[in-house]
Amino acid sequence: MSDMSSETAQGAGLLDRGRPILIRNAHLITMDERVGDLLGDILVKDGKIAAVGRDLSCEGAAVIDGTDRVVIPGFVNSHIHLWQTVIKGCAGDWSFGEYLQYILGAAGKHYGPEDVRVATLLGALEQIDAGVTTVYDWSHILNTPDHADGAIDALEQSGIRAVFGHGTPGDDIARWWYQSREPHPQDIVRIRRTRLASDEALVTLGLSLRGPDYAVPEINRADIELARSLGIMSSMHLAAGVFGEYMPHCRAMGEAGLLGPDVNLTHCNRLTDDEIAMAVDMGASISVTPEVEMQMGHGLPVTGRVKAAGGRVTLGTDVVSSVSADMFSQMRFAVQAQRMLENSKSHALGCMLERLPLSARDVLNYATLQGAKALGLASRIGSITPAKDADLTILSWPSHHSSPLADPVQAVVFHASLANVDTVMIAGRVQKFRHRLLRSELTERHQATQIGRRIMTAAGFQPSGRLPT
Ligand SMILES: [Zn+2]
Repeated sequence: MSDMSSETAQGAGLLDRGRPILIRNAHLITMDERVGDLLGDILVKDGKIAAVGRDLSCEGAAVIDGTDRVVIPGFVNSHIHLWQTVIKGCAGDWSFGEYLQYILGAAGKHYGPEDVRVATLLGALEQIDAGVTTVYDWSHILNTPDHADGAIDALEQSGIRAVFGHGTPGDDIARWWYQSREPHPQDIVRIRRTRLASDEALVTLGLSLRGPDYAVPEINRADIELARSLGIMSSMHLAAGVFGEYMPHCRAMGEAGLLGPDVNLTHCNRLTDDEIAMAVDMGASISVTPEVEMQMGHGLPVTGRVKAAGGRVTLGTDVVSSVSADMFSQMRFAVQAQRMLENSKSHALGCMLERLPLSARDVLNYATLQGAKALGLASRIGSITPAKDADLTILSWPSHHSSPLADPVQAVVFHASLANVDTVMIAGRVQKFRHRLLRSELTERHQATQIGRRIMTAAGFQPSGRLPT
């Protein structure tokens, strides 16, 4: 395997505007059943995948050598709160209650618009660095319209593809999150009319709503109807954790016609099988964020139950304040947690499983194509399909390691991490090449440490996450 670490994007001609790009001789995991997987080439023209096949040629194209490399559709992270990037790593030992009290309850009110901009920008760049080309940025830190503008500025500047999930302010948890009676802020209407009016742009609009666990039913209905009146998708946290008697809110939403392909449900751990079947039948997508769910007591990840119901599992990383923000980790947590569950069930019956219930390809599909479907973007991204936008992630393994490429899918799921993300392209534009992000944003990086310290101190906890005793 060749490292070629001295090769630059500029030197390779990858930054020449309008110049086609030819990725040659790579293991292609297309996630497109008609195209299949192959050792071959991808031709990118005008931001789109022009052709996928063997021995492609294109006069004048800039060439990326794909030898001993794997190309996948860029990861789609269907649930992340980028605003927490500046307080990354403080809450890895915290319970759900501590998270609610100290992050949503205390830190949020100390974020200014510039803090949100810096956090969102760095978070988006870190996603690109980790091979993620699309995020649903669940932004419930919009204390003023300027906060929203800061987040949108950052997403647009980063080069990532994003659904900006417009949420509530983060300045008053009791007002916005405890059986809230507050309607969703109307600033979203301004944003829809002005900054994010287009559904074709790289950054589009969604509505991050409280949902029936955190707002009264009338408000939940009004929030979903607001999203629908604006012609945008919505996303909510649902049925995570044990808080008193279980309320079948999902069933109530289904019966009220509030579920549909435009609605994303995140976590869903406590849903009954009937509720999962109902959500699936009505076309709602479900985001599993297994690492944080296992940490904070949300409940068992629903991966297997949604799959059994024929539904659309997507993966998200959720809170970077606590857990890892890369999709490799989430794929592994998802697949092995499900296997552990099924193995345990089998043991209880006194026997061993003959076959495993979930494959590496299943979770890679969840992390790419199914995420694209959940965000309403599957006609443009999610698979390596001619005419789709060229959102591609190329992985490589160092030459001093033994090759994991006997099965490229297993290599990506079980033998890869951020360190293996070689090259990332979004809508045909190279954002990372040969393990180097093309944007460093050093100013923001310096700002971020100061911002994080200031917010955590003001919120009453140590940057190490140590809480007052
Ligand atoms: Zn979340």
